[in-house]
Amino acid sequence: MTLIIRMARDSTDERLINVAARLIRDGRVVAFPTETVYGLGADAFNPPAVRKIFELKGRPPDNPLIVHIATEEQLRMVAGKVPEKALKLAAEFWPGPLTLVLPRSDRVPDVVTGGLDTVAVRMPAHPVALKLIRASNRPIAAPSANVSGRPSPTLAEHVVDDFYGKVDCIIDGGPTDIGVESTVLDLSEDVPLLLRPGGLPLEELERVIGKIEVHPAVHGGKIDRAKAPGMKYRHYSPRARVVVVEGEAEWRRKKIRELVEEYRRAGLRTGVLITEDYDTGADEVFVTGKSMEEVARSVFRGLRCLDKRNVDVIVAEGVEERGLGLAVMNRLRKASGYNVVRQRGRNSANERGNP
Ligand code: AMP
Ligand code: MG
Repeated sequence: MTLIIRMARDSTDERLINVAARLIRDGRVVAFPTETVYGLGADAFNPPAVRKIFELKGRPPDNPLIVHIATEEQLRMVAGKVPEKALKLAAEFWPGPLTLVLPRSDRVPDVVTGGLDTVAVRMPAHPVALKLIRASNRPIAAPSANVSGRPSPTLAEHVVDDFYGKVDCIIDGGPTDIGVESTVLDLSEDVPLLLRPGGLPLEELERVIGKIEVHPAVHGGKIDRAKAPGMKYRHYSPRARVVVVEGEAEWRRKKIRELVEEYRRAGLRTGVLITEDYDTGADEVFVTGKSMEEVARSVFRGLRCLDKRNVDVIVAEGVEERGLGLAVMNRLRKASGYNVVRQRGRNSANERGNP
C-alpha cells in the first residue's frame, strides 16, 4: 500500500512529517520532493532499507546513492574527512543542488556507496526534505524517484506512475523548482572533478574554488574511471526514440521541421520538445519556454508528457551549453543514447538522426 501525503512546500503540519519520518525510522521507503527532482529515500544507516531502493528502481548495485543531510553534524557522521574546499562550497551553496563526493566514514554501509571508499553527500534546499531528514533524525539515502533508465520525476504524479503500490509513502509537494538533478563534484582527490553537471552551474563553483576538471563522460566521452559509476548506464529515456538537434537557432528550427517531415513520411508519430512554439508539423508539441531555468525545469516533464501521447520519436531542440544548459544537454544526449544531429562545423557531420 502506498500512503500519499499532500504537503505544501512551507507546511508547518508536524503531524504529517512525523508520519513519514516514522516510516523512514521503521526501515520503509518514502518518496519526497527536493528542489531538484523527487527522491526515493530510506534510512542511510539501515542496509536492508537501502537495498529496497535498489530493488524498487531496478538500479545496478554498483551505482551508489546520494546521502541527504540536514545538519553539519550529519556531514561529519557520513564523511571520513571534510576538505577545506568542501567546507567553502558547503558554506556558499548548502542547502542547495550540489552533491559533494568525499572520503566516507565507517558508519556508511557498503550498500549506499556501492562499495566505494567515497560517499556522495548533499543538503537539499527544500523545506519538506529538510524537515523529513530532521524528524527522522538520520541521514536519508536517496536516488531520483524513477525506475532506472526513465526520465527523472519532477512531479509527484511521475512518482505515482513509476511506484504507486510499491513504495510505502509518496509526499506530494508539487512541482520541483529546478527540474534537473544536483551537480556532482568529486573532492576526494586533490583536483576537483565534475562528475555530473546539474542544478548548480559549473561557473558558480569555479567562482568559489577555482579550476575544476570535467570528467569526459559529461560530454559523452569514454567512461574510463571506476569513480563515476552511474555514468555507464542508460539514463533518462522515455519509451520513444529521442533525437537531439544541435546548432544555431535558425538551423535548428529548419532541421527539426525537416526531420519531422521525414519521420512522418516513414509513418512515425512524432513529438517535438522545443523552447518556443512554431510550426514544426509534428503530431505532438511540448514547449519548455526559452530561459535556461524554464528549459531545465520542464525537460523531464516534457519527455514524460510526449511519451504518454504515444509518439514513436521525440525530436528535442538542443540549447547552449552554459549555465544550466550543460546539465540540460547532458540529460538530453543521454536520453537519446547520443543520437545527435549536429550542424556541420560543430564537431560532427551527422545530419540525419536515426528514428
Ligand atoms: P541519482 O541519485 O539518481 O541522482 O544518482 C546519484 C548520482 O551520484 C549517480 O550518478 C551516482 O553515480 C553518483 N554518485 C553517488 N555516490 C557516488 C560516489 N561515491 N562517487 C561517485 N559518484 C557517486
Ligand atoms: Mg537518477
